[in-house]
Amino acid sequence: MIRGTKVFNNKNISITSMPLKYNKPDYVYIPLVSYKNKNFDILVKPDDYVLKGQVIARSKDKFSFPIHSSVSGLVKEIQKRKYIDNEDIDSIVIENDFLEKEKKIGNKHKINSYSIEEVVEILKECGIVGMSGNNFPTYYKYGMELKIKKLIINAVESESFLTSDFTVLNSYTSEILETIDALMEIFKIEECVIAVKDFNKKAVDDLVQYIGSYTKISIKSVPDNYTMGWEKYLTEYLFKVKIKKYPMEKSILVENISTIFGIYEALKYRKPIVERIVTFSGDALKKPQNVLVKIGTPIKEVINFIGGYITDKKPYLIVNGPMMGHCLETDDTVITKNMCGVIALNKIDTSEEMDCINCGKCTNICPNRLAPILIINEKNVNNIKKLHPEKCIGCGLCSYICPSKIHLREKVLDIRDKVIQK
Ligand code: SF4
Ligand code: SF4
Repeated sequence: MIRGTKVFNNKNISITSMPLKYNKPDYVYIPLVSYKNKNFDILVKPDDYVLKGQVIARSKDKFSFPIHSSVSGLVKEIQKRKYIDNEDIDSIVIENDFLEKEKKIGNKHKINSYSIEEVVEILKECGIVGMSGNNFPTYYKYGMELKIKKLIINAVESESFLTSDFTVLNSYTSEILETIDALMEIFKIEECVIAVKDFNKKAVDDLVQYIGSYTKISIKSVPDNYTMGWEKYLTEYLFKVKIKKYPMEKSILVENISTIFGIYEALKYRKPIVERIVTFSGDALKKPQNVLVKIGTPIKEVINFIGGYITDKKPYLIVNGPMMGHCLETDDTVITKNMCGVIALNKIDTSEEMDCINCGKCTNICPNRLAPILIINEKNVNNIKKLHPEKCIGCGLCSYICPSKIHLREKVLDIRDKVIQK
């Protein structure tokens, strides 16, 4: 049984036909982070000239990938800047010369002509990651030497407000189909399903127009139920199989739609992820919309570019959605590869937590069948482990449903991280 609920939608306010482009930051601040690694060899020094897409730092740690410049221009210094998780992170500051100079790569590549090893190497060198928020390196998934029989393209985008995946799908439909087709040929994948929400009727219509000759690719609408985008539920719903942990148990790979477009640009042009589409939404913005923006651009510059805030009052900023995201301390934070959206709100629910009334709703709704209230109240470490906080996917349904406004998600995640670290 699929657990979850319909959550408020608020998507229409940021949807436009094409994303706006902002490529004029005076400076970019490229964070030295790849997945969870922060240990880098820096390959540039102040006053070095760098090209857009040039590798400026490398790490030898596991799951790592190179760091690229998102502009052409002069390296200035290393500076601490706020990262998406509100931590101050070493970042390479580059002054943009606005010339967009990049390394010549010759002719466009035929993207189905690569071997598996070449695909894995290109995805690694281009720093392709899960762009829906997890920042996990994509090359690792394709290099696991496990047979991929089926592919699911996740365009469900369950979170309220966010429409960046929607915009990618609608703006680059033919490129996405070309990429899926190439991956299917190279990895000998038998079948692919593109999953969208009922809400995204336009995407379904567009895909139907393009999909004609791609006989092994189909489109399926999934119910408007929050957590439907979770890869376990999505796989179980689409292929009627039981997944214990990961879809790859059944040789099924789930890939986010924005990541597929990143793979396209890497295979076609050897272009790393140096920019992405980000949703800017919420009632504190004059003109909510999607913007194609360079990695390392401060959020406030993009917000000013699209018209700014409605009032002078500092809004609440939530990154990557109200259910699974978190509050940002400042709009000085820079755009990262795993930033799908920034929501600026005039007010948020700041009501005090009340006592638990033992209604059981948090336990009944948890998609991983955890007991959030027991996890947060348990003091004995061994007993906590028996409640499996490590299984929490941070979906936020427990906090959403709790009538006592208890911040269950944050507390369970905190315990989960401590248990995992031990
Ligand atoms: S405990 Fe974790 S997985 Fe369960 S509902 Fe809460 S946030 Fe979601
Ligand atoms: S939903 Fe809230 S009030 Fe109900 S049992 Fe869980 S923590 Fe207690």
